[in-house]
Amino acid sequence: MIRLTNTMTRRVEEFRPLVEGQVGLYSCGPTVYDFAHIGNFRTFCAVDLLKRFLTWEGLKVRHVCNLTDIDDRTIARSQAENISLSELTNRFANAFFEDMAALKCLPADVFPRATLHMKEMFDILKALEAKGHAYAAGGSLYFRIGSFPPYGELSRLDAREVLDGARVDSDGYEKESARDFVLWKGMKEGEPYWESPWGKGRPGWHLECSAMSRRYLGDTFDIHAGGVDLIFPHHENEIAQSRGATGKEPVRYWFHVEHLLVNGEKMSKSKGNFYTLRDLLGQGHDAEAIRYLLLSVPYKRQLNFTMEGLEAAKASLARIRDFAARFADRTTARGANPDLKEALARCRATFRETLEEDLNTALALAALFDGIRAANSAMDSGGLTEDARQEAALLLVDFEAVFGLEALPKLTLDDDVEKLISLRQEARKKKDFAEADRIRDELKARGIVLEDTPQGVRWKKA
Ligand code: AMP
Ligand code: ZN
Repeated sequence: MIRLTNTMTRRVEEFRPLVEGQVGLYSCGPTVYDFAHIGNFRTFCAVDLLKRFLTWEGLKVRHVCNLTDIDDRTIARSQAENISLSELTNRFANAFFEDMAALKCLPADVFPRATLHMKEMFDILKALEAKGHAYAAGGSLYFRIGSFPPYGELSRLDAREVLDGARVDSDGYEKESARDFVLWKGMKEGEPYWESPWGKGRPGWHLECSAMSRRYLGDTFDIHAGGVDLIFPHHENEIAQSRGATGKEPVRYWFHVEHLLVNGEKMSKSKGNFYTLRDLLGQGHDAEAIRYLLLSVPYKRQLNFTMEGLEAAKASLARIRDFAARFADRTTARGANPDLKEALARCRATFRETLEEDLNTALALAALFDGIRAANSAMDSGGLTEDARQEAALLLVDFEAVFGLEALPKLTLDDDVEKLISLRQEARKKKDFAEADRIRDELKARGIVLEDTPQGVRWKKA
């Protein structure tokens, strides 16, 4: 059973998708005005782990991740650099894709851009207007919070706090109530604009996500993800817009990732206390160690970023890989070792159970290291038997699948496989059967199974 914390109820709940076997997942993507920092990537890596985990559990995930390519920050930066908005946002969208690939995050099925979804936004605005949830003032369109009693359910903020938070969004237009938030911003001199039924202007940030999640995942979908800072006002406003327009609850499970901190403070651009991935790679750090660090603390807990932590992550990943390499190198010991096989099977079960209980990655990694310790000491004293070896290999394969990090060295080129096979043939001719077996084992640890046939050796991926 998969259980996840749902921010809406503040409880860990059993996860059951709307359509059996399928999951619709929407995550708020980057604002493409600059390089993302590793705090942003903590959230993106956590969503990637969620997605890989659900897939590993046999579910088919459809993942949509938007790119915010129009807002105050993108406009300000394109003006400062004297380039068009699209030139700026394309540049940072590409940088984002490169960073995501370096961090081994799987691409979303769709990366919709706000500027290409005006029609979807207008559809929502028209519905909101027809139902009395939206009103025009001073060339802009606002959401009338007083018309939507469930407002505040997700963030559980009282009216005063809502008022404080809303100030962030206010642009000095005349609203009916200070709490009301902007849906469509009337054109300002010198800024990009779109034609709309309400005049020239541009969409508010919250509207973008309501429109794009609905377009690609429907009125109601399974999981909406983002960092905790988005609970209010962004996600609260998304609910108001989507539910106000369709009458349906848009999201079944709200998945929020806690912050990456530096010296106890949220890592953010505005505080200046941030590292981009490029900063760290430039200092010689390894992207996979960064991914390991970001995933090693469960998403429900804050993670304090330190260089010592990054070094420790690097060492942990190296331990896993040393084990995998050592394991791939050794020939199998004779006989069976049911106790060790059983112990390793228990580690695998714990690995799964701890992930199924709200993605406790720290406990899952502890189970992996328990298994590694047990198998290592068996290798120290006489070697791994075939039964235990298979169980250990599966544990590594599980780790690779969920954490998205390679442990076992992979043979990707057929040429490499053929080369090893011909080396094995030579060893056999020389009657060096130990070497021949070693090569067969090496191939096996990398997922290649050999078959001796009258026509020669055939191989296939296990
Ligand atoms: P932005 O590009 O500012 O829209 O943020 C992209 C994503 O990063 C959002 O889901 C944010 O909630 C998330 N985020 C921002 N800062 C942090 C942080 N320090 N730790 C974790 N996630 C963050
Ligand atoms: Zn969003």
